[in-house]
Amino acid sequence: PDEPELEALQHADVARLLPMPGAESDKYRRGVVGIAAGSARYPGAAVLAVSGALRGGAGAVRYVGPAGGAVISRFPETLVSDQGPAKAGRVQAWVVGPGAGDDAGTVAEVLEADVPVLIDADGLRLAERDAVRRRDAPTLMTPHAGEAAALLGVSREEVEGARLKWARELASRYRATVLLKGSTTLVADPGGTAVRVNATGTPWLATAGSGDVLSGLTGSLLAAGLSALDAGSVGAYLHGLAGRFAADGAPAGAHDVADAIPGAWRDVR
Ligand code: AMP
Ligand code: MG
Repeated sequence: PDEPELEALQHADVARLLPMPGAESDKYRRGVVGIAAGSARYPGAAVLAVSGALRGGAGAVRYVGPAGGAVISRFPETLVSDQGPAKAGRVQAWVVGPGAGDDAGTVAEVLEADVPVLIDADGLRLAERDAVRRRDAPTLMTPHAGEAAALLGVSREEVEGARLKWARELASRYRATVLLKGSTTLVADPGGTAVRVNATGTPWLATAGSGDVLSGLTGSLLAAGLSALDAGSVGAYLHGLAGRFAADGAPAGAHDVADAIPGAWRDVR
């Protein structure tokens, strides 16, 4: 196919896309985002994904998984469910995978949902390609180069050497929008026509849990009604800016990045 145009969102584009509540809003109209993440081994991934989701503009965050206790003690506003994704109640977009370990059943269940799904981290490894391809609702995959390489069956170096090509290839193989993380982030749509590039980040974002925050934030934007391409590119933009604000010339942890998301919104508005 022809080379697509690379587009970089600017402050004004992002401001236009941010989901802002109006007088008619209630929490369900703002959107409910479901987070299926975390495990006994990695409860923190669930907490970080929820922390990002709470700052992303959805009206409520629902959590399913084994880290409900850790999530609720840090974020009491989370709706914690002890049912699987299919029985968790109303959800307008799902995030599945951060710290999920080997729970393939949960990933498969989320992929059956008729709402947008963001797949990250362990979820990328556990998701069956055909189950992703046959979805009607949008799918957004958010690998870093190593995760993309594993899905594509090539080396990490090959992906790093031709990031645009491989992001588009992955999007085509999975019929999904692909957000390829890195020092600059690419967001490629499944049809191969649009690719967005984001460079608002900082190398301080290369820290454990950083991607989990991005997944929750971006999932929340999906639940608020943004397309996969817009949610991915706005999520990457805000996450990068939040990373800059959190790590203003000094290191910060991923939870600091999440705490800086509201400041990134205010800066863009
Ligand atoms: P993950 O690898 O899943 O924890 O995600 C890491 C996050 O940090 C992604 O949003 C990356 O785009 C971002 N990131 C990692 N390294 C850099 C870098 N050198 N410059 C800017 N952003 C980065
Ligand atoms: Mg990650």
